[in-house]
Amino acid sequence: MNAQRRFDVIVVGGGPAGSTVSTLVAKRGHRVLQLEKETFPRYQIGESLLPATVHGIGHLLGVTDALRRASFTIKHGGTFRWGSNPEPWTFDFAVSRRMAGPTAHAYQVERMKFDQILLDNARDNGVEVRENSHVVDVLREDGRISGVRYRDGEGGEHRVEARYVVDASGNTSRLYTHTGARREYSQFFRNLALFGYYEGGRRLPKPNEGNIFTVAFDHGWFWYIPLSPTLTSVGAVVQRDAASLVQGDPEEAMRRFIDACPRIREMLANATRVTEGPYGRLRVRKDWSYCNTAFWSPGMVLVGDAACFVDPVFSSGVHLATYSGLLAARSLNAVLEGAVDEDSAFREFEKRYRSEYGRFYEFLVGFYDMNHSEDSYFWQARKVSNTAETDIQSFVELVGGVASDEFAGAALARERFAAASAEMAQAVSATGPGGRGHFGAARSGAVVGRLMEQSAALQARALLGPEAGEGKPLEPGGLAASADGLSWVRYDHS
Ligand code: FAD
Repeated sequence: MNAQRRFDVIVVGGGPAGSTVSTLVAKRGHRVLQLEKETFPRYQIGESLLPATVHGIGHLLGVTDALRRASFTIKHGGTFRWGSNPEPWTFDFAVSRRMAGPTAHAYQVERMKFDQILLDNARDNGVEVRENSHVVDVLREDGRISGVRYRDGEGGEHRVEARYVVDASGNTSRLYTHTGARREYSQFFRNLALFGYYEGGRRLPKPNEGNIFTVAFDHGWFWYIPLSPTLTSVGAVVQRDAASLVQGDPEEAMRRFIDACPRIREMLANATRVTEGPYGRLRVRKDWSYCNTAFWSPGMVLVGDAACFVDPVFSSGVHLATYSGLLAARSLNAVLEGAVDEDSAFREFEKRYRSEYGRFYEFLVGFYDMNHSEDSYFWQARKVSNTAETDIQSFVELVGGVASDEFAGAALARERFAAASAEMAQAVSATGPGGRGHFGAARSGAVVGRLMEQSAALQARALLGPEAGEGKPLEPGGLAASADGLSWVRYDHS
């Protein structure tokens, strides 16, 4: 057993939840160790992202440029063959005023690349990342979790101590039990997913070619996610009574499901299934909708799939993972810096996390009722979100991940965005016709580029930055986010 070393925070897991919390705590100068059992890049499902992740949390993490450079497929919204309407219908993130302008899109990502960008960014921000490090147990002291025991790639055992341990080890987590929590499985979402990858599948007509295509059929529904111009992730989510078929012969089950769903069959008419490399086999996942009875205990906090997960029809998994990572980071920073006591800080974390999870859960239960039209789903979204927006705006904000009170300050930033756009227009006209004028093309390009960047940053901050963070707390006397969005402060009523 190797010698102990003490950190402020140990994060278990190198997925989006783990890399979000580790980076945002390290950004405040705390000593963070992140332990990941695999060697990256490693495969993971969960490829369709939401704008709140890309522009809100991505902006706080400082990865928006790296994500742009990765050339992921741009997702402007979703196209659904769902409910009583036999024809596909499409929603566009741009409908929402909270996501207008340069933040009205998300990405479809290969998780091997996306998770690597987030983990590298954690390292760049000072997190000590150790891959091939499997956490096998927690340490306890005076009734608190005080560290972990892990095994490295050579079988060596290590003990490391910290003031806090974050369990971000995903849906297979065993560590969450140390909070005393039970995992409660949803009786409603008892589905099973069978998924694989195809080369050469068709694309939806422009401008929807990057959208996720979600298609209901007799056994359940399909996702069809364009990961590159030629590579598509295809998955069938079916009721549990189809389990024996899936587990008996997955290849045959996939063929039967595709045959039973004419729209997916058409999309895949000229496609071939990938049979080699990390995408080369069909995979199965089941029992994925659950919520733990507690999200923290003294010395330990759960984020991402380690805490809860709800059915993937609206691609909320990575959003909930990164959003909970942000909330946990605020609580950890506030406590480590002595700004807020542990109990208040982690209660705030849990309340906000449960509220966001609950919003998706409640809406999804109604969405699974196929007897409704899309207008009725939009209305349900407004009811669940309890906003003054129109039905379609409420729906798009919910499925874009920006419906929470967290984002209530977006209106203010929208105004600033409008002001920045006006400034940009003025700057362009000042450069003369065609934007060339006496500055010359390069100069005007630089001005426009800088202002576009400022506008995008304002929009991004509207999603999660100070304008949102300094808004009112959830209840009187509660906590609000600090000006940099990375901690909690007591709300000053004056
Ligand atoms: P993970 O991404 O699972 O990361 C956990 C990490 O912890 C892993 O790297 C693992 O190796 C590591 N680890 C585990 N145990 C240990 C240990 N003991 N010690 C050290 N390291 C450990 N989400 C979306 O946003 N969009 C989608 O389209 C989508 N589709 C989905 C489809 C299906 C069928 C399912 C089941 C889920 C889908 N999701 C989707 C959800 C998404 O996969 C998860 O919500 C997301 O990956 C959770 O991130 P995480 O960081 O909590 O966990």
